[in-house]
Formats: sequence, structure tokens, C-alpha cells
Amino acid sequence: METVVSGIRSTGKLHLGNYYGAVKNFVKMQDEYKCFFFIADYHSLTTHPTPANLHDNVRSVLVEYLAAGIDPEKATIYVQSDVPEVVELYLYLNMNAYMGELERSTSFKDKVRSHPDNVNAGLLTYPVLMAADILIHKATKVPVGKDQEQHLEMSRTFGNRFNRMYGHEFFPEPYAFNFTDKLVKVPGLDGKGKMGKSEGEGNAVYLRDTPEIIRKKVMKAVSDGGPSEENQPKPEAIQNLFDLMKIVSAEDTYAHFDNLYNNCQIRYGDFKKQLAEDMIVATQPVRERISEIEANKTYLREVARYGAIKARESASKTIREVREIIGFKNF
Ligand code: AMP
Repeated sequence: METVVSGIRSTGKLHLGNYYGAVKNFVKMQDEYKCFFFIADYHSLTTHPTPANLHDNVRSVLVEYLAAGIDPEKATIYVQSDVPEVVELYLYLNMNAYMGELERSTSFKDKVRSHPDNVNAGLLTYPVLMAADILIHKATKVPVGKDQEQHLEMSRTFGNRFNRMYGHEFFPEPYAFNFTDKLVKVPGLDGKGKMGKSEGEGNAVYLRDTPEIIRKKVMKAVSDGGPSEENQPKPEAIQNLFDLMKIVSAEDTYAHFDNLYNNCQIRYGDFKKQLAEDMIVATQPVRERISEIEANKTYLREVARYGAIKARESASKTIREVREIIGFKNF
């Protein structure tokens, strides 16, 4: 059976980008593959959380994973820092990861641009840690959004380089995966790029947002004065809202508003109202389960403990073999 690995940084609450780009696929994949889903708290250290925030954020993502439908009986759910073998593999892979290729990574360049005051080495080597997360379980499929495509390519590079260097076909090649034929990019509400945790207030809709908050955010989303000619191409902000509607609404709802746009009869107030209602319906089952799961501390502790045991079993086997291949020997 093929192995699947994916994770989400514990830098905040899960938004619709995380849900449609990653977590929804996790839930489907757990029935068909051997799955490992983790909470990336080592990765979150690049943003320097306080100790109190660090733990709260980890718990919050764990609750949201479970509320979204990941089943700890089917998939291994674990906290990344419960599996220190990942860090050991990260160290080995770092020895053969080159400055030039790390500096060329799009996400690194984006971070340098957006946070010039915090360009730490952890950010530079972020793709190496991600490769370690994947290769530690010898995974071949990685359910992620479109923004992670380049990181997956780097994971293949690092795995293949290790294999070549030591003359072993040890690590298989991991590929980004989505059940549809394309990787998903969920746009944000600010009219510019993707939905993201660090893209500014109001850009992201979170699974924890109440219906009132969702309505407020969507009504405030960037739009424009409306089309002036029939069938004119949609500007980016409007295209983004249509892309969101394609994700959360029924096909005929999308077609209805697309027609209105093409006939210059669209009223953005009605369009946004519908989009907000469909987002509320799409996220309702997850939202309802969040508070119930959050209250059950014993269950959360058990899930994390059980996940850590299963993840370490797999990771320590890989590390034992890697150490042998590299040449570490006992006296
Ligand atoms: P992050 O929140 O950056 O840790 O990302 C966790 C997962 O969510 C990764 O698989 C990302 O590809 C996915 N993801 C984050 N934002 C988006 C987005 N706007 N559209 C699609 N997938 C996303």
C-alpha cells in the first residue's frame, strides 16, 4: 500500500485554503492509503511563537483535523515534535542541500520580501525539513495545495541525491497529490493572491469563523464597479470570488452568476451574499464538531499519544536504515 504524508503548520487556525488544498483530501485518502498527518510545530518556530502560543496552536490544529473528519483509527495523526527522528533526517539532508537551490525557492523569496527583518536559517532550510517529514515515512503521495509544488520537487531532489550519493535506491519519489486532476489554489478575499494565514486580516475565512463573521468578511471582499461590456474577462479580484464560488457552491449557482456577469446584470451584493451562505453551509459540519472535540481533553491526549507511538515506529525504522547506509556503526 502506498504511503501518504502531509502536514499543516501550527501557526494559526485552519482556513479554507488549508481545508480544500489539503485536509479534505486527507479525509478521503485515509480510506485508501497508509496515511501520516502531522501538525508542523517545528516548522512554526520560524515565526517565533511564545511557549504558551505554541501549545495552544498545536491543540487548535489537532482539534480541527479531528473535526474535519480525520480518523485516528485509520490514519496516524501526530505532532511533528513528538518524532525527533525527523530532525535527525533533516540534519543529514541539510549536508547535501545547497545554498543556491534553497535561495531560489519561491516561498523563501516571498518571505524575504514580506519579512525582511526575520530571514532566519530555518526559513532557508524549510524545504529540507519538509523533505525530512515526507522521506521519514518513505511516502510517495503528498496531499498539498498548489503553493507546495516546488517544495515537492525539492523533496525529490534531496531524496534522489541521497540515493545517488550512497548508491542505494532507498527513498522513493514523493509527488503532490489531489483527487481532482489539478492541485488546488484557494484565493483570498483581498483581491490579490492566495488565501493565507499571514496575508492580512480579512483575507482568510477560517473553519472556526462564525456565520456572522463569514458574512462580514465576504461582504467586505474586494470587488469593483461591475462589468461594462458583455463577456468581458474578469479582473483578478472578481475571478478570485468566482473561483471561491466554484469551490463551495453548486454548479448551477456558479453558472447562474457567471451568466449574470457575462450579461452585465450581476449585482455583487447578491453574489457575495450567496457566496457567504454557501461557505457557511460547506463548513458547518466541521464548525459544529470543533467545540465538542475541544472540550474532550482526555481524547486529545490519547490521540496525540497513540499517533506519536505509531509515527515513531515508522520513523525510527527509516532512521536506523539511514544511519547504516551513511556508515554510522556501533563499536
Ligand atoms: P500552511 O498553512 O502554509 O502550513 O499550508 C498547509 C497546507 O495547506 C499545504 O498543503 C498548503 O498547500 C495548503 N494551503 C495553504 N494555503 C492554501 C491555499 N490558499 N490554497 C490551497 N492550498 C493551500
